[in-house]
Amino acid sequence: AKARERSSWQRFDIAMVEQVTKRLAIEKDIRKGLENNEFIPYYQPRVDIRTGRVVGMEALVRWHKADGTVGNPGEFIPVAEETGLIVQLGERVLREACRQTRIWHSAGMDGLRVSVNISAHQFRANLVDMVFNALDESGIDPELLELEITESTMMSDLGQTVSLLERLAGRGILTAIDDFGTGHSSLYYLKTFHINTLKIDRSFVEDILNDENDANIVSTVISMAKNLSLQVVAEGVETQEQLDRLREYGCPEVQGFFYSRPVPADDFEIYVRKTNG
Ligand code: C2E
Ligand code: CA
Ligand code: CA
Ligand code: CA
Repeated sequence: AKARERSSWQRFDIAMVEQVTKRLAIEKDIRKGLENNEFIPYYQPRVDIRTGRVVGMEALVRWHKADGTVGNPGEFIPVAEETGLIVQLGERVLREACRQTRIWHSAGMDGLRVSVNISAHQFRANLVDMVFNALDESGIDPELLELEITESTMMSDLGQTVSLLERLAGRGILTAIDDFGTGHSSLYYLKTFHINTLKIDRSFVEDILNDENDANIVSTVISMAKNLSLQVVAEGVETQEQLDRLREYGCPEVQGFFYSRPVPADDFEIYVRKTNG
């Protein structure tokens, strides 16, 4: 029994060492990737449910690695967050997304709003200067930039959240609560926080047709948002049936694979020109 115990501990140790080694390797790769500008935003359209027109896009980072493969956020965002590298990575994405948006505006695709994800690590006092700099650098209208902040990030330090949101709103920048419904936001804070948009989490939309609870939550969030004069976006729309149901509930804006996956800037531009005419 002793021998077996020891060997299982040894296996455990080896697994741990392998895991730590792998993380360190990813961290090193991320640093190199940042140096070589390998992190590139893709864009997913946000669509007006009534007109079918593209009204904006969410920037979602992809890793174009030296070996030609493309990495998804699930592989590297957690490590980037743990190591704090997300601050630098997030700034790159924001600046590039603003720069690209400016180009599109100048090319006649004006009025498109760009949404950028902000991680918990970035949601600190110096975020405001970083965002203002990116705006100044790109020259885009602050009302066309939206920052997506998750419910849990917002709820972790309420005092700081109120002040950050106020400073961003002071400049006219839009803010959205991302993954709405998955955390513990209180209705009270929805009223107090200076926010513009609720993004209903994909997990609710996924089951909207066969789970009565999810359907009720979605329709309730939509009417509540209307009463609070907030914009609502349902994310993760994949089928016509889901779209029809969201329309029935009066959801104003949608996003999901039904329209398009996140795609590189060139492909996004083609999509918008085709859709918006
Ligand atoms: P998120 O902000 O909730 O982004 C939505 C995710 O859902 C994206 O995954 C998107 O590709 C995916 N999605 C969109 N429509 C559908 C659909 O119809 N069906 C399904 N199954 N999925 C859909 P992605 O691009 O892999 O990003 C995952 C997460 O990584 C994001 O979740 C966000 O939390 C994070 N992330 C991505 N880019 C950035 C970034 O630049 N900065 C930060 N801080 N986080 C980022
Ligand atoms: Ca998001
Ligand atoms: Ca989300
Ligand atoms: Ca469910």
